[in-house]
Amino acid sequence: MSMNQRATPDREALFAALELFVNCGDTKSDLHSFRLQHPHFFQAEFYDQSEQLAKAGKRDNFFNWLKGQLRAVWEGRDPAGTHLGVLLGIQSVSYAGFGGGDFQAEVTEHMAIFGDFIDLCKPPSEEHAMVGAHMLFAARITPDWQGSTLQYEPTIDFQHAVYMLMNESWRARVCPICRRYLIADKPANIYCSTKCSGVARQKRDLEYWRSEGKARRSKRTKASKKRSSFQR
Ligand SMILES: [Zn+2]
Repeated sequence: MSMNQRATPDREALFAALELFVNCGDTKSDLHSFRLQHPHFFQAEFYDQSEQLAKAGKRDNFFNWLKGQLRAVWEGRDPAGTHLGVLLGIQSVSYAGFGGGDFQAEVTEHMAIFGDFIDLCKPPSEEHAMVGAHMLFAARITPDWQGSTLQYEPTIDFQHAVYMLMNESWRARVCPICRRYLIADKPANIYCSTKCSGVARQKRDLEYWRSEGKARRSKRTKASKKRSSFQR
C-alpha cells in the first residue's frame, strides 16, 4: 500500500511530534503544552474535548486514551493489529460490554471519553451487548489503478505519522534504561540518550566485574593459597 503524496509534511517533524505525544504525561498541563507545540497534529475539536475533560479533573479523556493505544502498538502489545487499525482510522473502535446496569455505566463512560467523535451503534441484545463506534477522523484506502496499488489517505497528521512509523516499524523502540519511547535513527540505536547508554555501559561493566572479576579473583586466591602451601 502506498501513501497518498498530495501533502507530505516533513517526516522527521512528524516523527518528533509523535515521539513527544507517546511520551506525554497525563495531566491537563501536559495536554495543553503539547497542543501549543503541535496545534495541527489532531483536530481542534479533539483537543477541545479532551481539554474540557482534563479541566474537569478527568484523566480518562480521548487524548490519553489514544496515547494508551499508541503505546500498546509501540510495545508490541497489539499482535492482531486492532489498536493499529484504530490509530490509522481504518478500523472502528469496537467495544464489548455485558447487559445490565454495568453495561449502561460503561457506555456512559465511553461516551464521555469520545463524545462527538463516535456514533454508538445499538446493542444487539441486552444480555451480551456489543457497541461499535466509528471514529470521525476516519482515513480512506483507495485503489490507485495506475500504480496497481492501494493508497492510504490519512485525515490528520497524527495518522500520517503513525502510518510512516509503521512502514519502518523497527524504529519504534522503548529505552531499556528509562522506559522512554523513542524513534531510533539507526538499527544500533537502542537507548534514548547518551545518558542512558552511559548508564547501560556502567551496568555492563559492573556485571563484568561481578561475574568475570569474581572468577579471576577466586583463581588468584586459590593460586596464592597453593603457593603458600608449597612454601610451608
Ligand atoms: Zn532512556
